[in-house]
Amino acid sequence: AARLSGTGCPRPYNPTLSKKQFRSREIERAMGRALDREEFEVWYQPQHRLSDLALIGSESLLRWKSGTLGQIFPDEFIEIAESTGFINELGAWVLERSVRDTQSLPTPLSVAVNVSGLQMMGNGFVDDLSRVLHDTGFAPSRLCLELTETVLFDGTEDLVEKMRDIQFRGVSWALDDFGTGYSSLGYLSRLPIDKLKVDKSFTLSLGSDPAAEPILTAVGDLCRGLGMTLLCEGVETQEHLDFLREHHFAEAQGYFFGKPMPYPDFHAYAEREKAKTAGVAGSAP
Ligand code: C2E
Ligand code: MG
Ligand code: MG
Ligand code: MG
Repeated sequence: AARLSGTGCPRPYNPTLSKKQFRSREIERAMGRALDREEFEVWYQPQHRLSDLALIGSESLLRWKSGTLGQIFPDEFIEIAESTGFINELGAWVLERSVRDTQSLPTPLSVAVNVSGLQMMGNGFVDDLSRVLHDTGFAPSRLCLELTETVLFDGTEDLVEKMRDIQFRGVSWALDDFGTGYSSLGYLSRLPIDKLKVDKSFTLSLGSDPAAEPILTAVGDLCRGLGMTLLCEGVETQEHLDFLREHHFAEAQGYFFGKPMPYPDFHAYAEREKAKTAGVAGSAP
């Protein structure tokens, strides 16, 4: 069988494939056609400022409803898209979709787009980004790119250079899922990071794990000291919100405000938020 599997040849039937491998192959195959079939959608989850609870932007989150396999979540398919290189094409599509959708909202909100490490390493990334910004005229200051810690861990100079280049153009960087990777606090000062997104597991264990409070408070101090913005993920309850506001956290995202939603729903959400703000301004003496 080994002789048959040279590059370019279809992979031969292999009776020893595990269930997981079999599923990956199925996903791999379906993914190739999914962009053309318009099976991917970008959903949006609101992000709010905590001082006045204003809506400031959203995070774009990819959704895939495969015609053959049904709904598949990014935690399963992103890894596979990375392994085949499809992530480059998919990532460029998500970026453009996110920017164009955000431009059509009733107020000038920001958008945070997840970028995979492999996508960053690819040659086309900076070009794709420049093209989207150029073609749309979207203000770079309204775009934030999210990277996870694991990517930065093997933070080669090459990657850091690219991040600086992109930041120089006015786009900001957020470190996603902070606190779950192989944290070396040293890199925080060396990398061009503007925002820390504290992983939802910390927020969600407030009230049940006595370590959650001191950890969150310390991360808050760390951020202030480094001049970074702090955003808490996984804000689900009023109690979570009260704690974060009491401790002067900057921003939050989570089911308390809204779950990720299709674009039309987010557009309506932004309309409602705009009306609220206008109401406040209108009632001022
Ligand atoms: P992430 O960037 O950390 O996204 C946050 C995840 O937490 C989302 O899961 C979101 O639905 C979920 N979440 C948000 N608020 C709450 C909450 O209050 N409670 C709970 N329990 N969960 C909450 P989702 O959409 O399944 O995405 C999973 C991961 O897939 C993302 O984690 C991100 O790393 C990746 N991903 C999603 N879209 C893209 C994309 O376009 N490109 C790349 N490279 N990765 C993506
Ligand atoms: Mg993210
Ligand atoms: Mg996250
Ligand atoms: Mg995550």
